[in-house]
Amino acid sequence: MRQSGGQPAPGFKFCPHCGNQVPDHAQICDFCNAILSPDGIYRGPVTTIPSATHSLIFGIVGLFVCGFVLGAVAISKAREAQKAIAFNPRYGGQGVATAGLVLGIIDIVAWVIILMLRPWAH
Ligand SMILES: [Zn+2]
Repeated sequence: MRQSGGQPAPGFKFCPHCGNQVPDHAQICDFCNAILSPDGIYRGPVTTIPSATHSLIFGIVGLFVCGFVLGAVAISKAREAQKAIAFNPRYGGQGVATAGLVLGIIDIVAWVIILMLRPWAH
């Protein structure tokens, strides 16, 4: 796909970062995720990354059941989401991922406390 020299096809331009052809109106390169607006700020649509939402769900469910396992899953999903958001400006949901991360930690801490106190043993 890499083009060197020549003119882009009508309605297309070359990405200055990777040299691939991208649509003229593109705000972001589909190949390398470079932001193509003149001021370097991405203003296109942003979608909440699914792994952030998953992290939040695992974090909430983990408050009630299997806090160790679901808390760990929530933390790893949140970290995955944060990495993807940092890499790709089209992804949002930083706040959701942070909430999932915090809930994941609470899950594990809460279940450690519950297991130490073992209220059912008294
Ligand atoms: Zn590119």
